[in-house]
Amino acid sequence: MTHDVTAGGATPPPDGPIPPPDGDAECDEVLEDVYVFLDNECDGRHRARIQQHLDDCSPCLARFGLEADLKKLLARKCGGELAPPALRETVRVRIREIVVTRLDAEPPD
Ligand SMILES: [Zn+2]
Repeated sequence: MTHDVTAGGATPPPDGPIPPPDGDAECDEVLEDVYVFLDNECDGRHRARIQQHLDDCSPCLARFGLEADLKKLLARKCGGELAPPALRETVRVRIREIVVTRLDAEPPD
């Protein structure tokens, strides 16, 4: 056993800087969390983060536009139930649209 643990290189620092109150970067991270969550089994860490963020960030909820579906999905996955593929796909497609829209909105510079 060594202490040289490199888990894919995407591990955030344990004590990162506090995100700005605007929370735009955090919104992007939460979207990524949702992707991870959709692709894996129930992960309490991701679930808590997603739900906490959605509770705090109404712009994100409005962007998702699928509060009920997403919360249903979170509850199902964490209740030991598999999310129905159709619901899962709906959420995934919606998030993809959001991400693409955000990228399009970025200035080309
Ligand atoms: Zn947000």
